Amino acid sequence: MTEKRYLMTPGPTPVPPAVLDAMGQPIVHHRGPDFVAVLERCLRRVKEVFRTESEVLLFTASGTGGMESVLSNLCSPGDRVLVVSAGYFGERWAKLASAYDLEVDEVRYEWGATPSADDLAARLDELGGVSAVFLTQSETSTGVVADIQALAAVAKERSALVAVDAVSSLGAIPCETDSWELDVVVAGSQKALMTPPGLALVSVSDAAWAAQKRSTFPRFYFDWERSRAAQEKLDVAFTPAVPVVIGLDVALGLLLDEGLETVFERHRRLGRACREGVKAMGLELFSPDEDRSAVVTAIRAPEGIDSGELVLTLRDRFGITLAGGQGPLKGKIFRIGHIGYYDIFDITTALAGVELALTEAGADIERGAAVSRALDAYEARAPV
Ligand SMILES: *Cc1c(COP(=O)(O)O)cnc(C)c1O
Repeated sequence: MTEKRYLMTPGPTPVPPAVLDAMGQPIVHHRGPDFVAVLERCLRRVKEVFRTESEVLLFTASGTGGMESVLSNLCSPGDRVLVVSAGYFGERWAKLASAYDLEVDEVRYEWGATPSADDLAARLDELGGVSAVFLTQSETSTGVVADIQALAAVAKERSALVAVDAVSSLGAIPCETDSWELDVVVAGSQKALMTPPGLALVSVSDAAWAAQKRSTFPRFYFDWERSRAAQEKLDVAFTPAVPVVIGLDVALGLLLDEGLETVFERHRRLGRACREGVKAMGLELFSPDEDRSAVVTAIRAPEGIDSGELVLTLRDRFGITLAGGQGPLKGKIFRIGHIGYYDIFDITTALAGVELALTEAGADIERGAAVSRALDAYEARAPV
């Protein structure tokens, strides 16, 4: 029998059959009526999921393409910007900003730390004249979810624009674009939006549009105004990844049918189940043991076990794909993503696989406890 595959990385994530089915239909032309109807509905649904009245721009690109568009549209040469980083993706904002001709400062934490609004406020006051602050909602490399509402508030109080990388979190946990006054939010199709890779989504506030008008960086494909003008006419500036847009439309419909609040609660319960199962096995969590951490669970490999080896064993022996550690955490942690199209049996499968692989590797872990503990934690409505 062909081995069954289980994709449990923090992106890309599994795609529901209804989405795959829609994407498998004959290709339509991107300027014909079939596609226009899809685009209209998709853009409307995207705004609902972003919780914004502003336009959300669609780019055929990975999430990083959307992030790069923020630098070239929101900033101008010589601007002073501040990046809050506590892991791989925060550092990506800093690298992107450095690739442009900007004065880049950082509130930089050790990987795994949770950024604090007080630290951000202090640094903004010390620096003065910061035009934009770059944040990461779910730091996928560590499992930490930052309090974006609090961080954004201190930046807004000091008149800085706020750009948020919500690529792994939008659609899994609350991200209130308008009520938290987030000027730019970037998402990607391949994470909580339950769609294959290929699209970056970027919301742009009125203040961000004003900055865009002043910005003097050269740009073409990722020019926000070019995309906005096309979308306004239910058109696209360039040939988009047509099947991915069609899939995204269906996936957003599924999210909205389930109800965003229900979706968020499911992710909190999945996170709880995963953490409790991991602890029952006798392993140590790397990501915080709290409800907020509902996107990715990061776990320390037991003494004497290389997490990269563990991930390879799981993939090659059982068809289960988890993620290892990045950067300084390589070999030290492994990560279970529970973003998007997941239920409790995905969590128990991952836990059972980890338990088997670790037992075979000779680790001292508790057999048989993780799955039942995870099921109990999932059923419990409040933190257990
Ligand atoms: C996945 C991810 C990205 C984007 O990665 P791409 O490979 O460019 O799609 C950006 N930020 C975070 C936090 C992510 O998890």
